[in-house]
Amino acid sequence: MTQSKIWLSSPHMGGNEQKFVKEAFDTNWVAPLGPNVNGFEQDLEIFLNDNVHVAALSSGTAAIHLGLILLGVQADDEVLCQSFTFSASANPILYLGATPVFIDSEKDTWNLCPDALEEAIKDRIAKGKKPKAIIGVHLYGMPFKIDEIRAIAQRYEIPILEDSAEALGSSYKGKRCGTFGDLSILSFNGNKIITTSGGGALVSHSLAKKDKAVFLSTQARDNAPHYQHSEIGYNYRMSNICAGIGRGQMEVLEEHVTLRRKMHDFYQAYFADKKGISVFMEPSSDYYSNHWLSSITINPTIAGKTREDLRLFLEQHHIESRPLWKPMHLQPIFANYPYYGTTIAETLFDEGLCLPSGSNLSDADRLRLKITLDDFFNNSISVN
Ligand SMILES: *Cc1c(COP(=O)(O)O)cnc(C)c1O
Repeated sequence: MTQSKIWLSSPHMGGNEQKFVKEAFDTNWVAPLGPNVNGFEQDLEIFLNDNVHVAALSSGTAAIHLGLILLGVQADDEVLCQSFTFSASANPILYLGATPVFIDSEKDTWNLCPDALEEAIKDRIAKGKKPKAIIGVHLYGMPFKIDEIRAIAQRYEIPILEDSAEALGSSYKGKRCGTFGDLSILSFNGNKIITTSGGGALVSHSLAKKDKAVFLSTQARDNAPHYQHSEIGYNYRMSNICAGIGRGQMEVLEEHVTLRRKMHDFYQAYFADKKGISVFMEPSSDYYSNHWLSSITINPTIAGKTREDLRLFLEQHHIESRPLWKPMHLQPIFANYPYYGTTIAETLFDEGLCLPSGSNLSDADRLRLKITLDDFFNNSISVN
């Protein structure tokens, strides 16, 4: 008998999603607008708890694209972006014909390094162009150094686009991630902490900005009985069906955070006595991570094994794991853009691995993980 696969992070339904979707069918709101869209936005606004306004969109990537437009980014502008992230953080910079300037991470949160960020800003200004925006990411649910990054952004008067795609349910000093940017974005893709099967949101403290995002996401129709357009529009609004899934998922978001954090506790306990392996943790009690993905780094000279040894071993046992994000400045598509920093992000990529973290993993899954890991550390010889 082949064993079922243990996934890194798979969709986890709460139960009421189908009720909201059925309501949409029953009332024929099968469109990119309707009561579920409004309801989902309201649920998110209440959850984020900071007088924010939310525009539900078709993806997190769409939200970043509109966010950059709302921050005034145009062709040939420069945008500072965390290098250690998923490509969706950076691709919208290229959609606009702007130039990404990549920034290294620091070791505590694995996110934007304040020193490298400030060095980049000074150098870009000295070279004649002040960057238009800073994209900071809360990777794997870990808040970036909010106070330090915001202080720099304020000093140079550059707005922050907060990529909170992985950090719904995380917080910093008691305030939710998704509320710290001049604009912020969320994602509800299938692998995120909650899913709408595919979706995202733009978060703003300004109702006018939200309205503008909705306007742009629905083809930028001017107020006229016929179709009249004086701006470029996009088809980026969330559908009422997807939003119905989202409303059901909001009922279980807190529980998902608890369960993801439980997976993190499991790994912390398991790896406590394993030399050369560290589990990625909050640097202080100011930080509260949803631990969307639990991650470890393996120092091969101490552990005697590489992260690739472990990844391949788990794969043989039908357990999915994945290297940490490959930094953008090392990606072929972004190789020719400026980069500021050293090798922090690169080393994390070389040594890091994300482990199964889903909120739907069971005690039986954890037992199987433990037995497989024991097997790897006690018996296996390096497969590389
Ligand atoms: C998932 C993700 C996105 C993009 O969200 P989509 O909804 O998949 O378009 C952006 N940034 C980060 C860091 C992500 O993990």
